[in-house]
Amino acid sequence: MTKHVVITGANRGIGLGLVKYYLDKDYTVAACCRQPNHADELNELAEQCTTLSVYSLDVESEASISDFVTALGDAEVDLVINNAGYYGPKGYAFGQVDITEWHKVFAINAMGPLLVAQHLAPLLAKCENSKLVCLSSKMGSMTDNTSGGSYLYRSSKSALNAVVKSLSIDLLPQNTLCVVLHPGWVQTEMGGPNALITVEESVHGMAQTIAKLTLAQTGQFFNYNGETIPW
Ligand code: NDP
Repeated sequence: MTKHVVITGANRGIGLGLVKYYLDKDYTVAACCRQPNHADELNELAEQCTTLSVYSLDVESEASISDFVTALGDAEVDLVINNAGYYGPKGYAFGQVDITEWHKVFAINAMGPLLVAQHLAPLLAKCENSKLVCLSSKMGSMTDNTSGGSYLYRSSKSALNAVVKSLSIDLLPQNTLCVVLHPGWVQTEMGGPNALITVEESVHGMAQTIAKLTLAQTGQFFNYNGETIPW
């Protein structure tokens, strides 16, 4: 039976790579982005693939999330990948943190994924073995933080980790697995040109990891290659 995946931040970077991967695996893909009219590569793909639909979704706006879920109708959703993310302005050292930007980073990285989960949980509940995956970062790991700084991004991804831990408990009765994944240091606009792996390597690793996960592993933090990451 055809499986259905929802991917946020699907117009570029890792999100676009995930769209291509799951189309190749014969999934029906709901690709969400803030500005569908400017998502040229996604729209070109959609012209070739009837199994790809492009939707408008800004994770900072609950109204936009609600409109998207309404547009899905009574669809069943096997897999949700909360991929959209924002690093925020770089270079805020201790003493220079901009609170307005911190709100924005938090809204996109921590609050948005929870709102997406709240609105899509009923559609995930319709599928056996449904999975909700949120792209976090090693930078949200307390254990991994040996260099300090990056207050906005680190704290937002730590908050996301806490959100997903609670989701894993609250969605257990409907058998939806919830995990956070670190995609690796990836060559995208966010990761920059010096990053260690390509989008394809990251996506392939994450998809293999996602496919192998069982409900017994809900509420955990994994690297793209399947290794566990300490909180
Ligand atoms: P990019 O910066 O390349 O892409 C970010 C994506 O998120 C874009 O599609 C962007 O859309 C979207 N986005 C940003 N804000 C919003 C919003 N308010 N609503 C909807 N979509 C939004 O990042 P990557 O592809 O590298 O990262 C993907 C995920 O992986 C992120 O969560 C990131 O934190 C995480 N990650 C990435 C790492 C890396 O090395 N690249 C390392 C660790 C984690 P738009 O084009 O409209 O801005």
